[in-house]
Amino acid sequence: MHPGQPCPFSSAGKCTIYAERPVDPCRKFVCGWLAPTSPLPEWMRPDRSDLIFLPASFVWRAIPVDVAVAAGPRPKAKARAWLEAFSRDMRRPLLLQSDGEWHAYGPPQFLREMVEQISAGLDPTR
Ligand code: SF4
Repeated sequence: MHPGQPCPFSSAGKCTIYAERPVDPCRKFVCGWLAPTSPLPEWMRPDRSDLIFLPASFVWRAIPVDVAVAAGPRPKAKARAWLEAFSRDMRRPLLLQSDGEWHAYGPPQFLREMVEQISAGLDPTR
């Protein structure tokens, strides 16, 4: 429910209120790894990579931006490296949240704008 923090209803890897889970965010949420068109390999499953991939989470200058947020203490280094390579190879800007900080990948202008937003205390994904 909050990036980097486990849901209070999550216990032993399961939802304790699954039948009654709220519409927003739970029922509306589509995990990028589970999406039918997901480019992520099997080992990037959130409980293995410690990150959640949100493809085309927002649009910057008509370009879809992928967002990845920590789903554990921090994303695994291998998962982070995979996403960085995917962003570079596919030319898709990426915002990755790790250790409570945002890391931006993409064209120089995208990086500048994200730094400005983050420095101003704004949520870069909005
Ligand atoms: S489905 Fe919703 S309520 Fe249940 S563990 Fe996940 S985030 Fe929490």
